[in-house]
Amino acid sequence: MTRPPLPSDTPILAADDPSALDEAVRILKAGGCVALPTETVYGLACDATNSEAVAGVYEAKGRPSFNPLICHVDDLERARTLIDLGETGETLAKAFWPGPLTLVSHKRAPSPVSDLAAAGLDSLAVRLPRSKALQTLVARLSAPLAAPSANASGTISPTTAQHVKDSLNGRIHLILDSGPCPVGVESTILSLLDPSGPVILRPGGAAREALEPVCGPIAQSQSTNQSAPTAPGQLTSHYAPNAQVRLDATQPKAGESYLGFGAQPRRDDIVFFNLSEKGDLVEAASNLFTALRWLDSVSDRIAVAPIPETGLGEAINDRLRRAAAER
Ligand code: AMP
Ligand code: MG
Repeated sequence: MTRPPLPSDTPILAADDPSALDEAVRILKAGGCVALPTETVYGLACDATNSEAVAGVYEAKGRPSFNPLICHVDDLERARTLIDLGETGETLAKAFWPGPLTLVSHKRAPSPVSDLAAAGLDSLAVRLPRSKALQTLVARLSAPLAAPSANASGTISPTTAQHVKDSLNGRIHLILDSGPCPVGVESTILSLLDPSGPVILRPGGAAREALEPVCGPIAQSQSTNQSAPTAPGQLTSHYAPNAQVRLDATQPKAGESYLGFGAQPRRDDIVFFNLSEKGDLVEAASNLFTALRWLDSVSDRIAVAPIPETGLGEAINDRLRRAAAER
């Protein structure tokens, strides 16, 4: 699948204009990305079930690593198809959705969501925002939308369409505008993974004082800065292969499977997966987690071709270095 070409000047259209929504649906179905308003900040949305679209979002933002993305839904029923909310999650969702609360829980299997959007984790972050435009797009795609904030990585989150344009013009397909975001800070991220009770991973638009009467005492995560879960083990269920991983391998050794990149002769004598024969880092990123999972399931040792440290290569190499780290 080839994503739609990027415009040199990204258009801003009114989010309540039906023809703008038609255009957004067309772009999202084709694997492109659309910035849109939510009550918290503007998000950069793509079809969460399409790995290449998700890779396009990481690329547009210039994210230095694949941080898991929040998946946005249009109703509670769709959230239930993605994660196991449990009793606490159901209660919280009924009390706070639509609203600035993101719930992290165990992913349902099989999951329609791309492994890349979940950064290879077995958990998933899900939110039902107030934005009518976003709800409409999810319903019309019949798929959740993965959406991080619509700004270049490392810069301040955007709360107007013009902020988005200033940061990402020419890097994304479309911006939907509905004026300034009423909440203006990101959602509160609450993990339901710990059996002893909910844990705040990121403070945000839903205050602890509002949450606790509904769900009981909430623990604070050891590391409050989940916007950069960079330390290995910071996310407890961080995906690591069982196989040993050897990086920068121009050739596999005997007994190794091979994760290739770029123009490389096909090898039928070994287990071989090429991330992108074209040497396209967006395509490679979209294949990375699927490839690692597959090679891990069929081999004990994985050799990995050198991957350029440019564009999405930085994020790919970050994840590969983690996969190769001593455990
Ligand atoms: P943003 O990129 O600003 O939308 O932030 C998304 C946040 O959600 C990041 O801080 C991620 O670390 C967090 N997140 C998404 N999925 C998960 C997950 N499965 N477990 C923990 N944190 C998550
Ligand atoms: Mg952000």
